[in-house]
Amino acid sequence: MLFYLDHDLLKETDVNPARLTEFLEDLCAARRNGRHLIFSEKKTIEVLLGLPDLSPRAHRTLSAVLRRLRGKLSIYRACTVYVRVVHGTQIFSKTRDGEKSKISISIDMIRGDDLFSKPKILVENRTDGDFYTGIAKLLIAQERTTQGLSLAYELVSGGGSQTPREYQALKNSDYLVYCIVDADIDFPGADLGGNTAAPVYKIEQISPKPTTEALILRCYSAENLIHPSMIKSALNLTGTESWFVNLEKFFELELWSYLALKTRKTCYDFFGGSDKNLYWASQRGFFGTPPCPPPCIKEKCSIYTPLRGTTLEKVSEHLNNSITSIPFFMPDCKSDVSSEWHKIKDGVLSWACSGGRIS
Ligand SMILES: [Zn+2]
Repeated sequence: MLFYLDHDLLKETDVNPARLTEFLEDLCAARRNGRHLIFSEKKTIEVLLGLPDLSPRAHRTLSAVLRRLRGKLSIYRACTVYVRVVHGTQIFSKTRDGEKSKISISIDMIRGDDLFSKPKILVENRTDGDFYTGIAKLLIAQERTTQGLSLAYELVSGGGSQTPREYQALKNSDYLVYCIVDADIDFPGADLGGNTAAPVYKIEQISPKPTTEALILRCYSAENLIHPSMIKSALNLTGTESWFVNLEKFFELELWSYLALKTRKTCYDFFGGSDKNLYWASQRGFFGTPPCPPPCIKEKCSIYTPLRGTTLEKVSEHLNNSITSIPFFMPDCKSDVSSEWHKIKDGVLSWACSGGRIS
C-alpha cells in the first residue's frame, strides 16, 4: 500500500516529535522490507530528514525514498486507494479524493504492527487467489506506467463459505485487508449468492472499516473470468476442438458471466417460471444440442458440457508461470469480463503495491 505523508504532518514536530519519530521508524522498516511504499512532497521529506532522533537507518531509507520520489508518481496515479497519514487526533476515515479513495489516519490511531505488515488479500480458496493475482500481475506488467512494480501481500484462503467469517475476524484486527469474492449470480438479475457474496456485502454495510475493502465480482464464479485463449494456452489446445469452439462462442455472449461452467445443463434448466429459468429459456437458442424427446431424462440429458473441475487451477498455474517467462498476453475482450479484470488489477495494485528492498 502507498503511504502518503501529508505536509501537515510536520506540525507533529511541535506536538509530539517522539511519536512522529517512532511512527517513521516503523514505516521506514516496512518500506525497507518491501511491504509498503512511501510517497510525499519533496519538501515534506526534506524536513522529516532533519528530525534529530531519527535513526541512521531510517534516515537512509527516507533519503532513498526522496531520491526515488519522481519514479513513484506514476504508481501514486495508478492507485485507486491509498493511505494518507495526517496531523491531528482520532482521525480514521475513508473518503473520496477525486478518482481515489483516501484512507486518512492520524498517528495516534496506529496501534501495534498490523498496519505495517503485508496487506492481506482474502479469497475463497487459493486457486481463486492465484487466478486473481495472476490476472493483476499480467495487467500491471502490460501497462507501461506500472511495469516492474513489486507487490507485497499475503494470500488468505477464507475456506469457501467461511470467507465472510474470516473477513469479519480480520476486520477486528488492524491489518490492511482486500477481499475478493465472486457474486455467485446465475442470471443477470440474480441476488448475490447466499453463502459468500451476500454475507460479505452485508458485513461491508454493517461494519465498514477504512482499512478493509471487498470486491464482489459480477459473475457466477471465478471461472467466468477465464478468457478462452487462457484455456487454449494452458491446455495446449489447437483451438479446433469442438468443445473449445463452443466455449469461444459462449464467451462472446452476455450469458457467459452467469453460466455455471462446471455444471451440466439439462432441459429442466431451460424450463419453468422462475426468473432464472425464464432467463435461460430466453438463451436456449444459443445451445445447439437438440432437446431430448419429452419427457427429458435428467440423468442422461446434457445441453451444455461442463468444464473440468481442474480448469481454473491449470489456467491460474499457467498465468503465474508465464509471468516469469514469456508473459501471457491479456487480450482485449468484451467489456463485462475485462472490466472485472481491471477492477481486480486496480484493487491488487493499490492494496499490495510495494517497492524493492532497501538495505
Ligand atoms: Zn433433456
